[in-house]
Amino acid sequence: RPVVCIVGRPNVGKSTLFNKIVGRRIAITEDRPGVTRDRIYAEAEWLNNYFILIDTGGIEPYSDDIILSQIKRQAEIAIDTADVILFVVDGLGGITSTDREIANILRKSGKEVLLVCNKIDTPKTPDEIYEFYELGFGEPIVVSAGQSLGLGDLLDEIIKKFPENKDTDYEEGVIKASIIGKPNVGKSSLINNVLGENRVIVSNVPGTTRDAVDTPFTYKGDKYVFIDTAGVRRKRSISENIERYSVIRTLTAIERSDVSILVIDATVGVTEQDAKIAGYAHERGKGLIIAVNKWDLIEKSNKTYREFEKNIKNTLSFVTYAPIVFISAKTGKRVDKLLQIIKEVYNSYTKRISTGVLNDIINEAVLLNQPPTDKGRRLKIYYGTQVGVMPPKFVIFINDKELLHFSYERYLENQIRLNFGYEGTPLQFEFKEKG
Ligand code: GDP
Repeated sequence: RPVVCIVGRPNVGKSTLFNKIVGRRIAITEDRPGVTRDRIYAEAEWLNNYFILIDTGGIEPYSDDIILSQIKRQAEIAIDTADVILFVVDGLGGITSTDREIANILRKSGKEVLLVCNKIDTPKTPDEIYEFYELGFGEPIVVSAGQSLGLGDLLDEIIKKFPENKDTDYEEGVIKASIIGKPNVGKSSLINNVLGENRVIVSNVPGTTRDAVDTPFTYKGDKYVFIDTAGVRRKRSISENIERYSVIRTLTAIERSDVSILVIDATVGVTEQDAKIAGYAHERGKGLIIAVNKWDLIEKSNKTYREFEKNIKNTLSFVTYAPIVFISAKTGKRVDKLLQIIKEVYNSYTKRISTGVLNDIINEAVLLNQPPTDKGRRLKIYYGTQVGVMPPKFVIFINDKELLHFSYERYLENQIRLNFGYEGTPLQFEFKEKG
């Protein structure tokens, strides 16, 4: 059974939330004498998903003066036992230093954490909620435990995080890289080259998962898995079917991966179909690397690289963040470099920058290049915060969305990339108005 732990400072409404989620079930057992009023452990259910709910706030009752170390201990208990942690904050009270302490501990744990903003009794989400993004757990889930508002949405989010409802083929930290591209560009050859030259330690026999063949391996101490769309060759008599299935295979592989390696045939050049495949990876918010293969067959002058690169950047203009590497799956040239770049792109894809550092850069960018005005009003940028990773996602608070132009959005993104790298990963931006 998955375990869900409720964590938070005193008086944010943990036990009310606990009681509401567990529902009536608990009252029956509680009526007996001798059972403490503060139940901390109960079974709960939502849409046929059963789980254990623990209110860590009840583990050690607070004395009058609240000791931070107790809260820390509760957070640690939650980290040890929980599959999902509900980090409850007081949506009306703003962030306190204790909230920040708890957030730091939880963030480092790498556990699934849902940030729950309690005590919001109004149907409309108040602006103040957005301040909580800063804690680094993504969009706060707004509830009123007292009024039983938003609990269904919260429960939906909780069960989504359960191991059985997630793609848990591989442990956390394994770099999942899909090898995508048109037929005959050399995808299988590339995989064979990586696996065949004692470069890597192949963990075990490759497995077929859904519509792709998975090959886990270790390279320089890091764990990877190649998700290969070429390896699965189904016998289909009608070529149209093959085409359709290959699109589905490509999409599935991209969906399951962190980083996609788009293999392009150097003797053919970059095509519209390559652009389409790159588009899938971009839309799905995945890291992307462009591997120009069969480079051994190209007659090179001192301009060849640059011309190729220019061509690719033109055709794939929406993914200029993707690094380009020229390889030969046949000779093995720069295949090690490609492996190194996969790791670098994965690092970008999972990178988190602090709100302080981000805002230094935003402020600098605004000074360097004033935001646009419209009918005498100027776009104001209050502050930004990174709310997610895989891919990195930012929320930027501004005065009026109508004043925001695409070119200025682009400019901000470029400034962020200039300062923090983020090579190979798309960045997502959400602009929110703040009164
Ligand atoms: P896939 O359909 O993308 O998996 O492509 P394959 O790996 O089956 O390769 C298609 C053809 O290109 C095969 O005949 C390979 O031998 C050849 N090939 C693949 N990579 C290279 C390369 O780097 N150099 C050369 N010269 N030939 C290659």
